[in-house]
Amino acid sequence: MKCPYCGAEDTRVIDSRSSEDGLSIRRRRVCEKCGKRFTTYEKIETMPIIVIKKDGSRQEFDRQKLIERILRACQKRKVSMESINRLADEIEGKAINSPQKEISTTEIGELVLLGLWKIDEVAYVRFASVYRDFDSLETFIAALNELKEKRLEEALTPDLTEDAPEGEEA
Ligand SMILES: [Zn+2]
Repeated sequence: MKCPYCGAEDTRVIDSRSSEDGLSIRRRRVCEKCGKRFTTYEKIETMPIIVIKKDGSRQEFDRQKLIERILRACQKRKVSMESINRLADEIEGKAINSPQKEISTTEIGELVLLGLWKIDEVAYVRFASVYRDFDSLETFIAALNELKEKRLEEALTPDLTEDAPEGEEA
């Protein structure tokens, strides 16, 4: 914040309080260079997160809607609300930290998939079947097989942290 008297960049906040309507913050500042005091009013930013849809149209990010979609995939699965909320936080955080506060539906979908992959296999498959919009049973089965292969690969990857079994020295 620049000093309005001398233009110095070094100013220090000495007091801040929110205005009555709660929509702005009133700050008393002091300039470190000329010592003059001044007041600023900062509007609290409520910049919405924007979701870019596949057709290029934009709409406001709806956290509740996202959670509902994840919940649908997790129906009757032992997935805690906490882990669903954490996944939503992760996705929301990613959008907030992007320069334009924008995220595409594709990106959201991939992030949900990545999250569910770690949380619950069945929920992952369910979400994938909706999200990837499989046009036929074959493509869906192909995707399932891909998942199985990935699992198999994981299972076959030797765990190097495990101790070698005893008494089997060559
Ligand atoms: Zn100054």
